[in-house]
Amino acid sequence: MVLDMFDLSGKVAVVTGSNTGLGQGISKAFVEAGAKVIGVSRSDSTETQEMLGKDNFKYVKADLSSLEPIDGIIKTAVEEFGRLDILVNNAGIIKREDSIDFSVENWDLVMNVNCRTLFFLSQAAARQFVKQGGGGKIISIASMLSYQGGIRVPSYTASKSAVKGLTMTLSNEWAKYGINVNAIAPGYMATNNTQALREDPDRSSAILERIPAGRWGTPDDLMGAAIFLASKASDYVNGFTLAVDGGWLGR
Ligand code: NAP
Repeated sequence: MVLDMFDLSGKVAVVTGSNTGLGQGISKAFVEAGAKVIGVSRSDSTETQEMLGKDNFKYVKADLSSLEPIDGIIKTAVEEFGRLDILVNNAGIIKREDSIDFSVENWDLVMNVNCRTLFFLSQAAARQFVKQGGGGKIISIASMLSYQGGIRVPSYTASKSAVKGLTMTLSNEWAKYGINVNAIAPGYMATNNTQALREDPDRSSAILERIPAGRWGTPDDLMGAAIFLASKASDYVNGFTLAVDGGWLGR
């Protein structure tokens, strides 16, 4: 049955940024498709764990602005659930400030979480996939600002453009190991990340008017793309950033 290609039974995933928003939605999708999930966030992922059950979802509390937690995250997946098959690099932050005044601190904070740690966590996951044999799946969360410039978010745009580039370069090197590296570029989704935009009446209506689907996206809107890129159904999809944006990029 073709739908069996989307089944994640027996698979183990690490999902960063699992306590809220898009990471919580992706964790839910994976568990519903049969996978076990190790979540990672700075805060406790208790809400996600209550939603999905302790047998299906465990979490590590870690600050991904440094590389220090990486080895422990991979080790936890292997110790708790026996292996690692899927990594979702979802944790991310945004800092808004005019570029003319933009601080080194806001540059480093965003680049460290969204780009530096994303690369080295992907490297650690790929090493585990190679050690196990049988390949694996890496999905990074990109952005509309992997394609566009944005306003007052220079480090975010730089980091998300890097995510799209890294997705291509890593897939070039790791496809030979059976590792699929892809990304999802969400449009404007109703989460904490966009709270400031949604609370600004002018920005909010300007954004809504430009979305052909006529609404903000929700974490549920990413579930299909995440399952596809985590499953056998995408075994011949490499290095691609898939927009889930209600038509934003087509405008
Ligand atoms: P969110 O609700 O703000 O969630 C961000 C997640 O990242 C939280 O789980 C947060 O955990 C985690 N995180 C941030 N800094 C961290 C750190 N230093 N260490 C560990 N975890 C950290 O935003 P979201 O919208 O779900 O965003 C998820 C991803 O989608 C991000 O990469 C974002 O850039 C991307 N994205 C979002 C949109 C959108 O419209 N919402 C659009 C395009 C792309 P804590 O709460 O514990 O800090």
